[in-house]
Amino acid sequence: MFQMTAADEFQLVLATNNAGKVEEMRVLLSALPVRVLAGPDISGAPVVDENGVTLADNALKKARAFFGATRQPSLADDTGLMVRALGGLPGVHSARYAGPQSDDRANRALLLDSLLSVQDRAARFSTVLAYVDAQEHRFFEGVCDGEITVAERGKSGFGYDQIFRPAGSDKTFAEMSATEKNHLSHRGKALRAFQAYLSTLLQ
Ligand code: IMP
Repeated sequence: MFQMTAADEFQLVLATNNAGKVEEMRVLLSALPVRVLAGPDISGAPVVDENGVTLADNALKKARAFFGATRQPSLADDTGLMVRALGGLPGVHSARYAGPQSDDRANRALLLDSLLSVQDRAARFSTVLAYVDAQEHRFFEGVCDGEITVAERGKSGFGYDQIFRPAGSDKTFAEMSATEKNHLSHRGKALRAFQAYLSTLLQ
């Protein structure tokens, strides 16, 4: 049913070139007997235009593209940051919030500017994982509620981590260890749901 190595190991392709995501996903999947392939492990990795209307559209598009290129079970993540005072923006456009060529620093700066003197700083991170193999596709979701800080804090992580403080914590994601972030984060929750499903596939 699945392509196994000589050691009967399940191989899973992470359909992303984002090093921060790959690191988090590897840690969370390390409890399972799975060989995780990503980035440089994948020759001819497709470049996917993330032009879907929803996180699920984009995640499925990426997982299908990597499955098509590798014929290996593939897992893609699409994540958005929804800010209540901005009517849910940047949302599905989170990666390009400050423009098509924008980077994490520019995106964070624009978001802090957009919320200058705004009292309501509530925000939600949402992750949709799409899993594709030769038989099926499935989605796994996770959310993390919190708020946007007034200034950057911390040095770890990536993306908007320096300006997102999850509810119930006094630290931003960027002030946390990887373990602390994974415990609370949108991606951690979605990956634990996927992990439970993968465990059933591996039985
Ligand atoms: P995408 O899922 O790669 O399209 O990510 C959308 C945007 O959200 C990018 O700007 C990422 O850097 C950012 N992002 C994704 N996951 C996280 C996270 O866990 N923390 C902070 N920013 C993130």
